[in-house]
Amino acid sequence: MALPVAVIGAGPYGLSTAAHLRAHGMSTRVFGSPMVSWREHMPVGMLLKSTPVASSIDAPQPGHTLLDFCRSTGERRYESDWDAIPVDTFARYGLWFQERLVPDLEQVRVVSVDRRAQGFELKLDSGEQFAARAVVVATGLSGLATLPPELAAAVPEGPSASGPVSHSSHHRDLSRFAGKDVVVVGAGQSGLETAVLLADAGAASVRVVARRRGAVRFGAAPDGQSPRKPDTPFGRAWSLYAFSYYADGFRHLPAPTRKYLVQRVLGPLGAWWLRDRFIGRVQVSEGKRIVRARVDEGRPVLTLAGEGGLTEGELAADHVVAATGYRMDLGALDFLGHGLRTRLVAAAGGPRLGPGYRSSVPGLFFTGLPAAASYGPVMRFVCGTEYASPRLARAVGALA
Ligand SMILES: Cc1cc2nc3c(=O)[nH]c(=O)nc-3n(C[C@H](O)[C@H](O)[C@H](O)COP(=O)(O)OP(=O)(O)OC[C@H]3O[C@@H](n4cnc5c(N)ncnc54)[C@H](O)[C@@H]3O)c2cc1C
Repeated sequence: MALPVAVIGAGPYGLSTAAHLRAHGMSTRVFGSPMVSWREHMPVGMLLKSTPVASSIDAPQPGHTLLDFCRSTGERRYESDWDAIPVDTFARYGLWFQERLVPDLEQVRVVSVDRRAQGFELKLDSGEQFAARAVVVATGLSGLATLPPELAAAVPEGPSASGPVSHSSHHRDLSRFAGKDVVVVGAGQSGLETAVLLADAGAASVRVVARRRGAVRFGAAPDGQSPRKPDTPFGRAWSLYAFSYYADGFRHLPAPTRKYLVQRVLGPLGAWWLRDRFIGRVQVSEGKRIVRARVDEGRPVLTLAGEGGLTEGELAADHVVAATGYRMDLGALDFLGHGLRTRLVAAAGGPRLGPGYRSSVPGLFFTGLPAAASYGPVMRFVCGTEYASPRLARAVGALA
C-alpha cells in the first residue's frame, strides 16, 4: 500500500491542503491542534480584518464556505463587506470544516521529520514513528511570535501574560488588565485592536507606541474604494490583484524585493471599523523607538528615542504588550531534522519554493506563512488557501 502524505498543521492551511489531497484520492495523515491560533492566541472580542468573501477556507467541493457554515448552523450570516466576523465565529467555522473534511485529524505534535531512502520518517509526541511519502508543512504562526530585542532583553525569563511584558499572542482574556496602565508596542491591526480591546476591558490607560510617525492609520470603508480598480479579497487595487491571482509570478522577483513586499504589502493598517473605537480612548506615541527596556519593581520601563535617535525619556506602565507580529524563521521549525535542514535552500526569509509549493527537498512542501517568501503576501491570509491548496495537491499527486 502507498505510504501516506503527512500534513503538519490543522489551521486553515493544513485543513484546506488535507481536504484537497483527499479529493485526489491520496491517503493522508494530518496532525495538529485544530484552529489553535484562533482559539487560543487571539483575544476574545477580536473581529477579523478580512471581509467575509476573503475568510473562507478553500475546499475542493462546494458547501464549505463561511457562508455555508452560517447557513448550516443557523449562525448570523456574514456576507457583506460591512460585516466584521468575530474570531470565535471563525474558529467555530474552522472546527466545522475540520469535522466534515478532516474528521480523523490526529491531535498530536510531530516532533521530528527526517529523510529516509524512500520518503520521510516522522516521530510523534505519542511515541509513534511512521513513514510518509511526502510531507506538507503548514505550521503557520506556531513558534514565530517576535519581540524587538531591546524589549526582550528586559525579561530574561521570557514574555508572558502574567509577567511585565507579553506578546499579543499570549492573550485570550484581557480582563486581567482592568484598572492597569498598559502600553502596546506596534501599530498594525493586532496592536490597534488589542489597544481598543484593552480599553473595552477597563484598562486605566492604554498607549500605543509606534516607530514611524503617522503609523496609526485606518483603511477605507467599503464604499470609499475606487470602482475603477479591480476587486480582490483585500480591496480594490491593481497590485493586490496581481498578488492574489498571479502568486506564481511573485517567485520570479529578486529575493530582496520579495522580502520587502512580504513585509510591506497589506502591512500595518487598522481596519476601517476600528477608527471610531480607537480615537479618544487610546493615547498614541508615534515616531518613537524603544532603545532600552528594564523592569523596575515589577513595572516595565521603556526608554524611547525619537526618529532622529535622540533619547527623549522614559515611559513606565503596569504591563507592555508587544504587538510586533510574527517573523518566518526556519530555525523555529525545530522538528525538521538536521539532514533536511542542510538540504533546504532558503531565500528571502523562508524556504525557496518552486512550482506547486515544492521545496528543494523532493517530497517536502510548505504552505501558508512559510510559503510567503516565495508566493507573496497573500499566503499570510486565509484566502490564500484558494490559490495554494489545489496547486500543492496537484504537485504532491504528480510525485513519482
Ligand atoms: C491577531 C491576528 C489576526 C489575524 N486576522 C486575520 C484575518 O482577519 N484574516 C486572515 O485571513 N488572516 C488573519 N490572520 C492571519 C492568520 O492567522 C493566518 O492567515 C492563518 O492562521 C494561517 O493559517 P495556518 O493554517 O497557516 O496556521 P495556523 O492557523 O497558525 O495553524 C498552525 C497549525 O500548526 C499546528 N502545528 C504547529 N507545529 C506543529 C507540530 N510540530 N506538529 C503538529 N502540528 C503543529 C498547530 O497545532 C496548528 O494546528 C491574523 C493573524 C493574527 C495573529
